[in-house]
Amino acid sequence: MFALRNSINLKSAKLLSRGITSLSHLPETHQMLQKTCRDFADNELVPIAKKIDKEHLFPANEIRKMGELGLMGLTMPEKYGGTGLDYLAYAIAMEEISRGCASCGVVMSVNNSLYLGPIYYNGTEEQKAEFIAPYTDGNHIGCFALSEPGNGSDAAAAQTTAKLVGDQWIINGTKNWITNGPDASAAIVFATTDKQLKHKGISAFIVPRGTPGFSYGAKEDKLGIRGSSTCSLIFEDCAIPKENILGEAGQGFKIAMKTLDDGRIGIAGQALGIAQASLECAVDYANKRMAFGNPISKMQTIQNKIADMALRVESARLLIWRAAVLKDEKKPFTKEAAMAKLAASETATFCSHQAIQILGGMGYVSDMPAERYYRDARITEIYEGTSEIQRLVIAGQIIKQMS
Ligand SMILES: Cc1cc2nc3c(=O)[nH]c(=O)nc-3n(C[C@H](O)[C@H](O)[C@H](O)COP(=O)(O)OP(=O)(O)OC[C@H]3O[C@@H](n4cnc5c(N)ncnc54)[C@H](O)[C@@H]3O)c2cc1C
Repeated sequence: MFALRNSINLKSAKLLSRGITSLSHLPETHQMLQKTCRDFADNELVPIAKKIDKEHLFPANEIRKMGELGLMGLTMPEKYGGTGLDYLAYAIAMEEISRGCASCGVVMSVNNSLYLGPIYYNGTEEQKAEFIAPYTDGNHIGCFALSEPGNGSDAAAAQTTAKLVGDQWIINGTKNWITNGPDASAAIVFATTDKQLKHKGISAFIVPRGTPGFSYGAKEDKLGIRGSSTCSLIFEDCAIPKENILGEAGQGFKIAMKTLDDGRIGIAGQALGIAQASLECAVDYANKRMAFGNPISKMQTIQNKIADMALRVESARLLIWRAAVLKDEKKPFTKEAAMAKLAASETATFCSHQAIQILGGMGYVSDMPAERYYRDARITEIYEGTSEIQRLVIAGQIIKQMS
């Protein structure tokens, strides 16, 4: 049963410190949050992670429980039904939840960073009342629709259009690979309102589920994070009220890029959780598995792998916390978020690969979770900007700073 609900009331928790100057210890609130999320993940998510992966089950119950804990609107202010914590708290929670179940992690990340975030930063009070509060308790989730069949990394090449006719926007086009899509009650959709202006002609819209002309493609059959749902969103003369534009016309690309800066901290946390789980799985197995008369953890070759995994995990964690603290301090963090996402996603791939190697044959079969970690890790190098795109972002920022 869900015995953790009252172990910490996140909704009334007060931050002891805005940001951390030393990474050597966290504020008390963040430590409590970390413990709560870790206990919740161990008790509620670890036991179901294999089943939801195998059966491609969307974890609706677990998401509801995460909503009860305050995790689905973690950084939203309390007046909009959120928990009112900062991005450092969010990064910590993302790691712990994803350590238990990476599918639950991405549902949480998309709802928090990609859906609620842009509405909070760019929405009107009416939009916030309608599209934030009901999406913080785990009963409703949202999605973010930027990618299309013809463009992913090159988001400015969006082909979806929106035309103002009378007092309605008419949307036409298809969005691809949309996480939470099949289960979301509302979508943030990016569409071109003025083709001549290229990326400056893209606008963002809030489209509720059930709007006539808004339909869904088949659920994708994925390599990993198979508990999360992904599909295309199809718009055929889909009419939404004029008021559903998010921000001003032409601000959509800027909104998308700013949103992805935030989202990268969440996905970095997801990747780190997978890496941490891989490390724990590998060490546990290495202590128990005997070969040549000793536990394999006594062998230097295995120890080297464990050292390299731990080194990367801790390095990625510090980069993530740094990016989160910079955001909390309202300082620029585009480069740092890209670094955190790049380091953490490559760490997840590395650690899950090493975990399989340490487990030998047991790493390759689904009796143990290492093969799932390996499959789940892979997407973290692709969505919310591939590793190649993160390197472009980092290099662009470094060259600008140093020129
Ligand atoms: C499971 C899943 C969930 C997703 N969820 C969402 C979602 O919720 N919302 C959403 O909008 N999108 C989502 N996406 C889409 C995802 O963000 C894109 O797949 C990703 O951005 C890459 O785009 P692409 O697949 O079109 O690859 P492409 O852009 O075609 O890239 C193909 C390859 O070329 C490389 N490349 C492209 N441009 C450059 C360049 N300038 N320099 C160097 N290399 C380059 C890429 O790194 C990659 O290796 C999801 C995708 C998946 C698989």
